[in-house]
Amino acid sequence: MADVQMAEAETFAFQAEINQLLSLIINTFYSNKEIFLRELISNASDALDKIRFESLTDKSKLDAQPELFIRLVPDKTNKTLSIIDSGVGMAKADLVNNLGTIARSGTKEFMEALQAGADVSMIGQFGVGFYSAYLVAEKVIVTTKHNDDEQYIWESQAGGSFTVTRDVDGEQLGRGTKITLFLKEDQLEYLEERRIKDLVKKHSEFISYPIYLWTEKTTEKEISDDEDDEPKKEEEGDIEEVDEDKEKEGKKKKKIKEVSHEWQLINKQKPIWLRKPEEITKEEYASFYKSLTNDWEDHLAVKHFSVEGQLEFKAILFVPKRAPFDLFDTRKKMNNIKLYVRRVFIMDNCEELIPEYLGFVKGVVDSDDLPLNISREMLQQNKILKVIRKNLVKKCIEMFNEIAENKDDYNKFYEAFSKNLKLGIHEDSQNRAKLADLLRYYSTKSGDELTSLKDYVTRMKEGQKDIYYITGESKKAVENSPFLERLKKKGYEVLFMVDAIDEYAVGQLKEYDGKKLVSATKEGLKLEDDDEEEKKKREEKKKSFENLCKIIKDILGDKVEKVVVSDRIVDSPCCLVTGEYGWTANMERIMKAQALRDSSMSSYMSSKKTMEINPDNGIMEELRKRAEADKNDKSVKDLVLLLFETALLTSGFSLDDPNTFGARIHRMLKLGLSIDEEEAGDDADMPALEEEAGEESKMEEVD
Ligand code: ADP
Repeated sequence: MADVQMAEAETFAFQAEINQLLSLIINTFYSNKEIFLRELISNASDALDKIRFESLTDKSKLDAQPELFIRLVPDKTNKTLSIIDSGVGMAKADLVNNLGTIARSGTKEFMEALQAGADVSMIGQFGVGFYSAYLVAEKVIVTTKHNDDEQYIWESQAGGSFTVTRDVDGEQLGRGTKITLFLKEDQLEYLEERRIKDLVKKHSEFISYPIYLWTEKTTEKEISDDEDDEPKKEEEGDIEEVDEDKEKEGKKKKKIKEVSHEWQLINKQKPIWLRKPEEITKEEYASFYKSLTNDWEDHLAVKHFSVEGQLEFKAILFVPKRAPFDLFDTRKKMNNIKLYVRRVFIMDNCEELIPEYLGFVKGVVDSDDLPLNISREMLQQNKILKVIRKNLVKKCIEMFNEIAENKDDYNKFYEAFSKNLKLGIHEDSQNRAKLADLLRYYSTKSGDELTSLKDYVTRMKEGQKDIYYITGESKKAVENSPFLERLKKKGYEVLFMVDAIDEYAVGQLKEYDGKKLVSATKEGLKLEDDDEEEKKKREEKKKSFENLCKIIKDILGDKVEKVVVSDRIVDSPCCLVTGEYGWTANMERIMKAQALRDSSMSSYMSSKKTMEINPDNGIMEELRKRAEADKNDKSVKDLVLLLFETALLTSGFSLDDPNTFGARIHRMLKLGLSIDEEEAGDDADMPALEEEAGEESKMEEVD
């Protein structure tokens, strides 16, 4: 060997988190070690995708190695397994960065997931699949050649560091990467052909490049003595003599064992989406789904279709069983559809392919019409792509409707992805109506089950024109809301919209099946009495309270827009509603929670409140009497303030100053318990009730 030329090895330390990850992989017991092969084959396939994509615009990129393949070489003598690909390879800097010095964001997340009991097979989802090599190997050597650089060797036994050496006189790859695993003594099963074939079948069946296994074949051959000197036919074959055939010894014939090697193709590469749906089993879809997504669970639903005619493409779409850990993480790519053009992988983050709200749908699209060398810029205005996108959305919605045929499945789906559907209602005006059919809510009549808008409509009472809903923080917070009192009494069902995004979605939806969606907490809720007599009585009563409304408005000042007699409450004394087009209490809560958007905006957007009072309520009746008897009755002012603050709470708003409210309640308690102010000396700093405060009250100050 020409060791004169031996290049010097440079040593690098693993980045701290990667080092931690390696110790975890090496020192923790995982039974599911076999996934290392899937991860390394998947990396090889990615590297092949990259070079193939580059070669679409520059054919010469393939010159150094025109064939695209993955090869697996078990070597029993040296106890190594090598995974070789003719992919893009890594230049020296990539090698150093990718395999050791720069940690991916997923490194830490994966370790946390592992410690929380996640399975090691999830490693690929976190972008650190390469390190799974150390599940089975004590040492790993990566030899790699990129078109723009020399061939380099990366080597490490973990333990904190790795070396990188220029490969001057090793076997030259032309282009690509060879990963050699020096298997641990207890992992030699991965040298067995059977085991490797089974693994490829199980985890890597749908890799779209040929995977070859270097296999050993032993054949027995009978030869006569004089044939013995013939030259060996097969280059790789070893010939050894066997003398088992003792009976025939006299006849000068010999049996020899011939060992030959060959590359055996061990995967079918015909893409599954080119096959007929009726010929594909559920298991095949599941295994394709897993290889596509790195998911460890089966898919929840699949839609396999082709579009023909002016434009042709084939696609398979999947809905996963659960939302990924980073569903709405905007740093992550939003799209999980792989785009192929005539079987050639083009890209997996083509934003134009599917709208953001369907980013959780995974799958492949293979177009016959797009040009192979399509660039990202071209994609943006491409008409073909627009048509594909429209079709994908349509098929997704069809698929969701199919899921809805099974209640359990749909519950699972809805729990994971209802936010996406609602985002769709908000953003996708064209499909709004269809998406609305997929919505489910609890309601005043739905019990423990969710109800659809469609079912709601079938239950609408005679004479009921609108669909009623209430928004709020939780089912519990809204189901006994005073806003529902009259609606309940009339037998009208009310939907509970308790997801923050409902507020946005319903704002866009506005109607369903020709029926207006009406908020129970906003102005404009008109519930007319059917009976003319009743109606008249009510009008009279309303009139008699008009004066009180004025007095209350005077006391509350800017706190409310106006004060009116209510149609919607039955038991409670009053409630606070918001303008038909303004924020609800719930929206105000949501906006406040989205910390400090822009304080100037929130002050002008914040809800304009109307106080609605209940003329049938005893407190209101008493208040009216007192106010009419003496306009300046101090107790009236105090009661009004207390009612206002209580109504803030029962109507879903928050109190700006809970202490003052508390103090008022305590004063009321004392009155109720007939405790004298003097006796309760420790409360001296509490705001006095108007009645006792004498001249201009302290109350004004604390307000
Ligand atoms: P991931 O594949 O999810 O990005 P890995 O830890 O498996 O994460 O690999 C890290 C990086 O190393 C890859 O993104 C890729 O750039 C590079 N890499 C790994 N294997 C190969 C390979 N066979 N050929 C070329 N590059 C590779």
